[in-house]
Amino acid sequence: MQTLHLAGTQVPVIGQGTWQMGEDRTRRQEEVTALRLGIEMGMTLIDTAEMYAEGGAEEIVAQAIAGQRDKVFLVSKVYPHNASRQGIPQACERSLRRLATDHIDLYLLHWRGQFPLEETVEAFERLRQAGKIGRWGVSNLDLDDLQELNEPACATNQVLYNLEERGIEFDLLPWCQQQSMPVMAYCPIGQGGQMLANAVLKQVASRHGVTPAQVSLAWLVRQNGVIAIPKAVRPEHVRLNAQAGALQLDAGDLEALDQAFHAPKRKQRLAMV
Ligand code: NDP
Repeated sequence: MQTLHLAGTQVPVIGQGTWQMGEDRTRRQEEVTALRLGIEMGMTLIDTAEMYAEGGAEEIVAQAIAGQRDKVFLVSKVYPHNASRQGIPQACERSLRRLATDHIDLYLLHWRGQFPLEETVEAFERLRQAGKIGRWGVSNLDLDDLQELNEPACATNQVLYNLEERGIEFDLLPWCQQQSMPVMAYCPIGQGGQMLANAVLKQVASRHGVTPAQVSLAWLVRQNGVIAIPKAVRPEHVRLNAQAGALQLDAGDLEALDQAFHAPKRKQRLAMV
């Protein structure tokens, strides 16, 4: 698996998402098993959030990383309504308890809310100094917000990015690349929906003997400073996602994909789910 430099360490360019895990007790074991398989296959970056199943996803992650915490680069996120001077340390403690660990490698503001960014940053920095988090970053911030934040210490911006949602290519992605701030692409396979049924995407996939989801991941991570965090519970999906890291798309593939999924010609507001 290819790696890139994030928050002072090397991480795989394909990690694992956890949204919608931890919601159904009867699926918990399956979810833990999927994450463990993903770690085994090299997808050692795990993305979660206090929001996911209101802490349930963090508990799944805790079970998956038990006995192998040091292999994993753990990302979690704080709700905007907890992103205050007092709220952040408390939310972080709750996440640490659910994750059954003493530190989160990268702690993100889930999206911008009512508290001033400087207040959130100050609280993040205190957590970093206390060793509760390795680094901090943001999610769902558009270019104007990032420029207002103006913080070289911000390790990443996690945003919606896939073949169907290419808006960030106009300004946000080049800016992050210029700042050497990796972007974490969420919903990298369009939540397994319509995008995967696109005829051109299917043709490119069959040319390489792979699946459309694998092409969509390879298309993202071929770029400098882009990490993809697909979520998968089915073991075959986990395996395919990990293997997508080895897929090399050629100029013809990229051109065909550009015809089918257009790059932005003007500024688009940052899309979110
Ligand atoms: P994804 O684009 O990762 O799609 C997940 C869906 O695709 C699941 O139904 C999964 O099925 C299916 N799938 C996974 N792998 C394959 C494959 N190889 N072939 C076909 N289908 C596949 O969507 P998410 O919304 O989960 O986004 C990824 C992660 O990003 C989240 O889990 C979360 O961690 C993060 N995120 C962050 C947000 C933010 O605001 N910061 C917002 C949204 C997501 P199955 O599970 O059955 O295997």
